[in-house]
Order: sequence, then C-alpha cells, then structure tokens
Amino acid sequence: MARFGCFSIRTVCRSCGLPVPVNGPVLTLACTECFDEMRLTPDTLAGFMNDFEEEYEGLSEGEGRSGTLMGGDGTFNYTYHRISPRCGSCGKSLEISSPAENSAFRCGGCGKLYHVAAVPEEYAKEVPSARFSITPEPLPESAAGKADENNGKKPEKPVVMACPQCGVALSLTAAAGRITGCRYCGAEVYVPDPVWLRLHPVKTAEDWIVWFEGKNRKQLESERRVKDLEEEKAELKAWRLRKGPAKRKGRFWPILAVIGGFFVVLIGFSLVLSYLGYEPEQIRSVMSRIGKPLDFPRH
Ligand SMILES: [Zn+2]
Ligand SMILES: [Zn+2]
Ligand SMILES: [Zn+2]
Repeated sequence: MARFGCFSIRTVCRSCGLPVPVNGPVLTLACTECFDEMRLTPDTLAGFMNDFEEEYEGLSEGEGRSGTLMGGDGTFNYTYHRISPRCGSCGKSLEISSPAENSAFRCGGCGKLYHVAAVPEEYAKEVPSARFSITPEPLPESAAGKADENNGKKPEKPVVMACPQCGVALSLTAAAGRITGCRYCGAEVYVPDPVWLRLHPVKTAEDWIVWFEGKNRKQLESERRVKDLEEEKAELKAWRLRKGPAKRKGRFWPILAVIGGFFVVLIGFSLVLSYLGYEPEQIRSVMSRIGKPLDFPRH
C-alpha cells in the first residue's frame, strides 16, 4: 500500500545567504536573488525521506518532525509529516490513485497544478521505497521541468521605469542585472526592490509529497543482513564438510608411514642377512627378537 509523506524544506544560498526553497527532490537549486546555482548531493534530502519512512509506522495522520540540519550541503530547515495527500492551498484531498510518470493534474478544489514525476534515480538509489514525487513546480530534471525551463528563457514582459538621472524610460527584462546602465545618460542605475521583485518573483517554500511503496531501506538492509548471515553459515558448513575428512586422513597418514617404514626396514634387513648366508631359521629367530615390541607373530 502506498504511503505518503509531505515535505517542506528550505536552505540558504551559499553565495548571498538568502533563503532558497527546496520544492521537491531536486539536484540543483537556483537562488532567485543572486542566480547562483547550487548542486545538492542526494544525501540530505534522501536522509529526510529515509527518516520519515523509518518513523512512518509510529506517526498518525498529520504527525511528523521538523528541525534544522547542518551538513556538507549547508543548513536545511525541514518539516515532514505523514498525510493522505491533500492540496497545499485549499486542503482538499488529492485523488492520485494511479500516478503516471511525468503527468500533471489539477486540484479538484482550487485548480492548483501538481506535477507527478518518478523520483530521480539519484534519490531512488538512496531511498528504495520512494516512487513518485508530487510537486507544485515540475522537477527541473523531469521532462516537464525541462520544458518549463525553456519557456523561462523566452523574454518576459518588460517592466518600465524612469532613469533617476535623466528621466528617460528604461525598459527592463529579467535578463537585466541589479545595476543597469542608462542607454541615454550612461548613469549606473540601481534597480529598486519593487521592480526587481516583479522581474524575479521570490520563490516560496511549498509542500511537496512523496509517494512511498514497498520495503523501506532499513527493512531491505536487515533482510540483506539475515541473508548474508545464512549464506555465511551455509558456506562454513560446506567448508567443514570439505575439510573434515581430509583433516582426519591427514592425521592418519604419518602413523601409516611409520609402520610401513618399519616393515620396509625389516624386509631389507632379512634380505641382507640371507645374502650374507644366514639360514632362514636363524633369520626368523633374529626377526622375532626385533619384532617383540610389535608382538610379531612367532613360531
Ligand atoms: Zn543567492
Ligand atoms: Zn486545492
Ligand atoms: Zn538616464
């Protein structure tokens, strides 16, 4: 059965220090203030998802955890909780019984658009039970996200402001820098906040949902451990069976060699005696005396 987790995460831009929302299981983030692009290692967000999965059984609807995490990728403020999927804007429950990869649907209550995408491979590797993400913004790595990015590159409607020095109309687009030169008087014009925000709307942290299904990482790991242990035991057993008889044989061989050697010496000795002209009777009497300790058969 599917399990749903709602996540809301914010981090801080590594260049300008302003908050940057993390609105989905993404691998890159762009600061809307300084345009610096940050790459995320999957560890941080995957950690939140795995923590949620491990806590899932103990959580009731709406329960979860929030906190701050400081790691290699920066500082993250996070909130996650267990939910049955509902719209972040109007609260109406979302019908997502059969998610299709790279699809989009609208909330039945307020019409807000949601994008469904397979959890990126980098995250799926770390969180084996994470299947789909349901995000208000398309994931930049998904097909919808790439299309959205291409749209974003088209020139937007310009915003017009008057040059503070000469009063001539300056037409600004999103491509303009925070400080822009006036084409007429050459003055360096600092774009005021209201105009700048109009050109670069601040992204807010929005809730996103992860669809989890199947065994979570911890369950898979403990299963693997049990399997490994069983395999190790079986291997050890097989090894003992292989080694056992050989070992006993090994202990037996030196004794056989000693006894064999003794008889070889006796036979050699009797041959030498007969060669020297001893009668068989005399040899037998010598042999019986030598063989006494071994209880050699005598007449
Ligand atoms: Zn920044
Ligand atoms: Zn809604
Ligand atoms: Zn001017």
